[in-house]
Order: sequence, then structure tokens, then C-alpha cells
Amino acid sequence: MINICITSRLSSLPIVIAHKKGFFEEFDTQVSLHVNTHHKGILALLEAGRIEAGEIPTLAYLQESFLKKSKIKRIYKGLFLYHSPLSFYSRFRFRPEDLTKNKAYFIPVPHINSVERLFTEKFLEEYAPSNPVKIRFTDTPSFLEEKEFLKPSCLGLASDPFISPFLKNYHDFKEDSEIPIFQSGNLVPSTLLAFSGDAILKMGRRASGVLLAVKKAIDYLKEASQTNSSKLWEDLNLSQYYPHLRAGELKSILFSHPMMEKGIFSYHGNIEAFSPLIKDSYFRLIRRVMTPEAIAPVLDFSEILEALEPKKLFDVRKLNSFKEGGAAQQHAPSLINYRKLNAIRHLIVDVNSVTLDILQGNFQSRLNTDDTLLLDNRVKMLINAMLDSFNSTLELQKEEIAELENLISVLEIKLDRSAVDLQYSEEKYRYLFEFSREAIALVDADTGNILEGNYQFRSITGYTRGDLTKTTIEDIIMGDQISPQLRFGSDLSQDTMLSLPDVDILLKDGSKLSVDVSFTSILLSPKKRYQVQFRPNLERKEQERLQHEFISNVSHELRSPMTNIRGYLEFFKTDKTLAYNAEHKNMLEVIDKNAKRLSFLIENMLKLTTSREKDEQDEVVEIFDPTPVIEDVIHMNSHLAKGKQLEWELNLKKGLFLKGIRFEFSQIITNLYVNALKYTFKGKVSLSLTETNGKIAITVKDTGIGIDPNYKNQIFDRFFRIPSSDNKKIGGTGLGLSIVKSLVEKMGGEIFVESKQGEGSTFRILLPKSNISS
Ligand code: ADP
Repeated sequence: MINICITSRLSSLPIVIAHKKGFFEEFDTQVSLHVNTHHKGILALLEAGRIEAGEIPTLAYLQESFLKKSKIKRIYKGLFLYHSPLSFYSRFRFRPEDLTKNKAYFIPVPHINSVERLFTEKFLEEYAPSNPVKIRFTDTPSFLEEKEFLKPSCLGLASDPFISPFLKNYHDFKEDSEIPIFQSGNLVPSTLLAFSGDAILKMGRRASGVLLAVKKAIDYLKEASQTNSSKLWEDLNLSQYYPHLRAGELKSILFSHPMMEKGIFSYHGNIEAFSPLIKDSYFRLIRRVMTPEAIAPVLDFSEILEALEPKKLFDVRKLNSFKEGGAAQQHAPSLINYRKLNAIRHLIVDVNSVTLDILQGNFQSRLNTDDTLLLDNRVKMLINAMLDSFNSTLELQKEEIAELENLISVLEIKLDRSAVDLQYSEEKYRYLFEFSREAIALVDADTGNILEGNYQFRSITGYTRGDLTKTTIEDIIMGDQISPQLRFGSDLSQDTMLSLPDVDILLKDGSKLSVDVSFTSILLSPKKRYQVQFRPNLERKEQERLQHEFISNVSHELRSPMTNIRGYLEFFKTDKTLAYNAEHKNMLEVIDKNAKRLSFLIENMLKLTTSREKDEQDEVVEIFDPTPVIEDVIHMNSHLAKGKQLEWELNLKKGLFLKGIRFEFSQIITNLYVNALKYTFKGKVSLSLTETNGKIAITVKDTGIGIDPNYKNQIFDRFFRIPSSDNKKIGGTGLGLSIVKSLVEKMGGEIFVESKQGEGSTFRILLPKSNISS
């Protein structure tokens, strides 16, 4: 039984016909047909020795014959099955200006070594020489051609309507897309039925039976197409081999095709036209300099054709082209002693079979030796020893290869695992990012472009993923709300963390939303990014409002009883009719002091809440001279310095004016001055009003207990008091400085503090200068 593998291309039709019509049996051969959709598989089967013959591209045959490394030791010549009148289909019509140089195109071809591929290269060279484009050829079975052709980067399709059902129905065929060689009517052999060298040795004469049967089928087809006899199709169940073509289609392809009249299943190749083409296009690929003369013998199928022509069986071993493979050798019989000749013949036959064994992978095969010291026996032993030595080298190498293979598979497994791990952690991160309850966006630190926004971010802002790719963070965070600290595009070498409270962001529908934003830089080399979190601050604001409301209500409620208490106290203190002893007087003093402190506290609390409320009625903004206000404050609080050994210094520049609410300014000075007195036990308190850089500077300086640097920023927070034992004794509310800060900012100014623990503190306010005339 001879195994032949064919493709599902129509080019295999002669073999199928020979099979269906029983031609193989007529020539005393038993053939079993196998279908493989692609040439690649057939070459692999031939290589593995699993089939005796197969349909392969002519150029693949040439390559296998020329490349010494080919494992299919010599593919034996066979029969041309099909001549390709290449039809090149193009969607760009190949005007050179339509091709883009930097774009990657691909062209599906029936086989990487097919004639179609060779001509496509040639064709492109001639049509677009000034604009060479980079093209990749892809091995594509005919039933996938349509799918590939519809891809946008597909430049065209190199195939033949005769074998490609898709091209038959595709009408955008460009007439002038044929290169001259085809216009001359020369047809180039595309595929052939070839035997492997091993198979031909085993089969001997039966190979010629196969070839004759196929040749008969070709003649039969030619005749059938001319008589247009459709009986053929009813008899033969062809769709068994060509499942992608319907019987009707098959029929119309064969009988309507003009090529059929030219004898499409012909075995006449045009070597003159073929050789130069192969020389400059094809052998370039296999890096061997070839002359047409070197190729001609390979392409010369005439000896087979001659052998077939008289319809005689032929002996493959007599073919010149086969002899060089080391099969039967001819000797001149007269010169050789017949007994020796016989021995040598046996030796040759034995060596031959061992060689074949080894070629088929049975490396243990050896020549049979006996105990004699006959010459041929010694030769045999020598040969066996040589084989042993080769074999041991081979074994060593096999071991090395096995070790390397092990190593490779271990590495592959490791690689797989780390790829899986990586994928897993990426997915985990993506999941955490996407479904975080916080609204988060990733921003390019250089450009401010939004790279991604998670689900929560998209749902509060209404932007889609697509919108975000066209948006920068500065489009969303409105105005100049992003602090210059973030400086997009500048080099941020350190991690940055920035929080911006009460930021308005622009939503997709054009409305605004107030949020708290925090920026965290993620230093991912080479790309720097910010992770930006958006937190709607409605809830926080509401809480703050409630808190304020509560404080303001409570302080209002406390105010009226306090007024009563202080009124009556005043009465007790001033009524001369009442007689007090020293102790009573002292008690009254204490009550009075504490009542004053209490009302100061209440006033401060009230101030804190109302200063935030927008339209306060009794606010009168005016331009005023700050000096008398400061002097008043000092005067009113001088009692606080009593009992302490304090020096004090006052330095007020005249002629400077401020704009704001006089009472609020007096609050600022009071709180700073009172603090300086409170937290200082010896030394000096000084107060100055000066002008610097067009601004008014007010400095309150003391030599008191100083401020722990850890709390330098917190002292301006509401209700914050430095937690120290000194401070507990001194007492306070933690409200004074927060009021100062909010009032200073209201006047458009800034406040700074400098302090050294145990040495003293300096509070400095800068306020905008005002002109009396403005
Ligand atoms: P308090 O009512 O406690 O004085 P403030 O808001 O006025 O509240 O001050 C907050 C904290 O800052 C004080 O508790 C104190 O620890 C510190 N502080 C303020 N002024 C001075 C100062 N001149 N010297 C030392 N510490 C000060």
C-alpha cells in the first residue's frame, strides 16, 4: 500500500480522479489517499517517513533538494500536477502612491514556498520599485483566504481562482496586474506529486505505476472538459475531498475555466522562463549563489516524461538523477573475479540495508560478522567498529540534548509561572483600582493627561473611558485651583502628597461638584504618575455647618446670663454702701476675673462662627489708621502683665492705613498680644508696626516659653492647645490663633510664626497697605 497525501486544493484533482476511477489498480498499485489542508503538514509527514508521496509546492521541492540540511533525504522527482496562471487580487490596485512606507502589510499565499509567493514578490518589485513596502507573506489555507483578505492590513491575495473558491467569486480583479511572464502564456509548474528518496528505494517499479495512473487521470480530465461531460460528477463523490466546494461549483470551475482548454493539468514546465526568475528571487532566500545552469537539471523532468511517454514501465534506479544518491552502481564485469564480485555484491547489499536502517533511526543496526578472517569479514568488522564509535558520539550528544531539553522545559515552566503570577497581580491591582469605593484617576505627571479613571470616578463625574482619554486633570479641576507645587511637566524627584480641600470639578453635564482632592505621586519608572482621589465633601461641609451652628447657638445662649452676672457684679463692686472686708474684696476680684474670662471665651467662640458667615450686618469695611487701635488693645489688656517682671517695647510707624473692619483688626491684635503676655514670664514683649515691600508688617515678639516645632502648624487649628503641663496651668481655649488666622486671611494677609522653645516666639502678620484716598 502506497500512502499519498494531497491538499484540499483543486490541484490534487488528477490524483483523486485516478483513485476514484480505479486507475491505480490498473497499473498494479494500491494507493491510500490522505487529505491534509496544508502543504506544511505534508512536508512534515514526508520528512517523518509516514507517507511515501505527497503533493508539495514545486519550490518547496527545490528547496528540499538543495538544502543539505533537509531531513527528507532527496525528494525524488515526481509529476507536475498543476501550472499556476497566477492571479493577483488587489484591493489597492497597486498605485505606488497608495502604499504607505511605514505601514506593515501582509499577503496570504498558499504556501511560503509557493510559486504564488515568488511571483508576488516579483510583481511588487515591478509595480512599486520607487516605493518599496515591507510585506510579510503568510501561509494560508484556501478556506481561510477570505477571512484574511478582509483584514485592513492585507494588501492583496496571491492565489488562483481555479483553486481558491473565494477568488472565483471576487470580482475586483485587475487585468493589468499580471507580470509579463504570464502575458506570454507561459505557465509555471506550481505543485507536484513527489516521492521521498527512502520511499522510491523501497517501492522500486511500483512508483512508475503511480505516476502513470495520475497521468492517465490528467488525460481523462482534459477530455472530459472538452466534451463537457457532466457524468463525471455524478459518478464521483468529489465533495468527499473538496468539502468546501459544492458539486455544482466544482463543475462550473472546471468546465467554464479557459485554462482547462489550455490543458491545465499539464506536465510541461517552461524551464527557460522559470530558471532566471528562481535565480534572482527564490534562491536569495536560501543564501546560495545559483546559476540558471545549476537549477536547470533539477527542473528538468524530461527523463521522467520520456519514460512515461511510451507508456512503458520504467526502472527508477536507471535514472541518472537518482544514481548520485548512491543506489545501484554499475561496474565493468570483465575486470572482476566473479567470486569476489559476489562477495562484494553481498557486502554492498548488506551495507546498503544497514545504511537504510541507520537512516531510519535504527542506530544499533550492524553488519553480520562470522569468525572467519576473510577479507570481507574484516571489512565488516572495521565498518561495525566505525559505526560503534559514531554511535557512542551520537549517544553522548543525545544525552546532552536531553539535558538541554530538560533545562529548557524547566525554564519554560518557570517563565509560564511568572507570567501567570504577573498577570494575576496585574489583574488584582486592576480590580482593586476599578472597584475601589474612592473615586480615583491616574494622571500623567508630565502632561496632566488623565490616563484612567475608575468606576467610582466615572460614575460621579459622568465621563466615559473614551472622554477621559481626551481630558487633562486641568480640564476637570477648574481654574487655578491646582497648586503650582504640582507643576506638570517639571521634574519631581521626590514623592509628592498634596491635599486640596473644597475644589470645584467640572462634570460631564457641565455642572460643578465640590470635592476634596488629594494627589499622591507614584514614581513608576520610566513614567511618573499621580494617583488623584476625589471625595465629594458635601457630608463634611454639612457636619462642619452643624458644628458651627451648635457653637454659635450655645455661645448666644451663654451671652445673656453672662451679661446679667457681670452687671450685678459691677453693682457689688461699685456700691459704696456695701462694706467688705479684705477677704470679701478678694473673692469679688476672683469672681470678676473669671467672669471676664468667661465672657472673653464666649465672645471668641461667637466670633469664630460668625466670621465664617457671609453677610454679617454690623460689618463696616473702612480704611483706618491701625495705631490707635493697637494702643487701645495694649491699654485694655495691661492688667495681664501685672505681677510679672516684663519689659515692653512699642514701635508704631505713623501714616500707614489698613482696609477692613476695625473691630476685627482689634481682635487680631488682642489675641496675639494676650498670648504673648500669657506665655511669657520674664523678659520682654514687643509690638511693632512697619512697612516692608509695600505691605504693612505687624510683629508681636516675646521671650516666653516658645513653641515646640512639632506643633508649629497645628497651633492655628481650632481648639488646639499644645499638650504640655505648663500650658495646662496657664489655661486657654485653643481658639485665639485660629480666629487670628481666619481674620488675617479675610483682610487679604498672611501670618507667620518663628519660635524657639524656651527662648520665645515671634508672630508676624503681613497685610496689604491701603491709601487714604482709595
Ligand atoms: P490658647 O487659648 O491656648 O492660647 P491659641 O489658639 O491662642 O489658644 O494658641 C494655641 C496654642 O499655641 C497655645 O495653647 C500655646 O500652646 C501656643 N501659643 C500661642 N501663642 C504662644 C506664644 N506667644 N508663646 C508660646 N506659645 C504660644
